[in-house]
Amino acid sequence: MSIALRTLDDGAWISVNDSRQVSVSDVWSLATGAFCDCSPAYVLLEAFVDVGVDGSTVVAHAVGQCLECGTRDSIEQLPVGAMIDGDFHPYDPEGVQWRLERDGEGA
Ligand SMILES: [Zn+2]
Repeated sequence: MSIALRTLDDGAWISVNDSRQVSVSDVWSLATGAFCDCSPAYVLLEAFVDVGVDGSTVVAHAVGQCLECGTRDSIEQLPVGAMIDGDFHPYDPEGVQWRLERDGEGA
């Protein structure tokens, strides 16, 4: 089963199977250390750079800014939802903390 994933409107949306599913206007709470030193970090996304799928998880490459400390950076693999039986099920932006793992260096 193929999934049509792309970004629309200069990265304002993630489209899944030609339906706009995830907007950048949400604030995502990310695990401590995953983005900056805030605990947790509340990151306002500015744009989706790319989108792909990792197993059944839809992951976005996004750019965002922390509302607390102002850090602006990119997030390589932000899990935004899951594909279940061909349907897209978006994750809750406030519940993503435990899903985002930092590459490399310690916990
Ligand atoms: Zn921060």
